[in-house]
Parts: sequence; structure tokens; C-alpha cells
Amino acid sequence: MLQCPKCDASMEEQTLSTLQGNVTIDRCTNCKGMWFDIGEAEALKEKWMSDHIDTGDPDLGRKHNKIRDVNCPRCGKQMAKLLDPVQTHIEYEACEEHGMYLDAGEFTDYKYETLIDIFRDFIFVLKNK
Ligand SMILES: [Zn+2]
Ligand SMILES: [Zn+2]
Repeated sequence: MLQCPKCDASMEEQTLSTLQGNVTIDRCTNCKGMWFDIGEAEALKEKWMSDHIDTGDPDLGRKHNKIRDVNCPRCGKQMAKLLDPVQTHIEYEACEEHGMYLDAGEFTDYKYETLIDIFRDFIFVLKNK
């Protein structure tokens, strides 16, 4: 089981049903931040349904959004701080080998199409390094 990189609570697996099949993400039991493994993000390339998944408190998410020096829950290396080029108030952290982390509430700021585009770009950048 993974530990949340921001608050050290344990993360639990959540399965999303998508048109492409099930996708598993890890969600913090405390702050509700979400971790996407790269493989999981790849499975989200197509349309997906997750209206129920981002149930975290946006205020807590905003507070946690200020915590930016966090380490990858898989390998412990410091993650890169990324900024969405269009919606610059949305920041997230990513380990280029393992995946990306979003604070609670950041998710709901996105239209799903935008979110999927971000995943696509993220994976594209990794594959072309
Ligand atoms: Zn947490
Ligand atoms: Zn890593």
C-alpha cells in the first residue's frame, strides 16, 4: 500500500469503471489526494467516468497544493512540479518514472477532456525523452 507523499497517511486503491475497462488509482484516506501510476493514466486515454471519485475537500486540497516539495510514493525521489499551461492555478507533481499526484479538488477543476489531454501530454513527453 502506498503512503501519501503529502501527509503520510495510507492510500487506498479505488477502481474506476471506464469504457476501456477498470482503472485503479490510489487515493489518500486522509487528504484524498490522488496518485496515478503511469500505466493507469495510459488506461485513461479514452473517455472515462469518474464523477464520484474526487470527493475530497477543496479547501484542504488548496492547502496541500502549497506543499510542493514531495517525493514519489514509489521510489522516494523528489517529484517535478508541473503547472497546467492553460489553467495555471492547477499545479501537480509528477515522477517521470512512476506517475503523478493531484491534490483533492484539483480534479474537479478540470473538464474531463482537459484532464485526459494532460495525461496524454504527460505520457507523450515521457515517451519522447
Ligand atoms: Zn494525504
Ligand atoms: Zn518514482
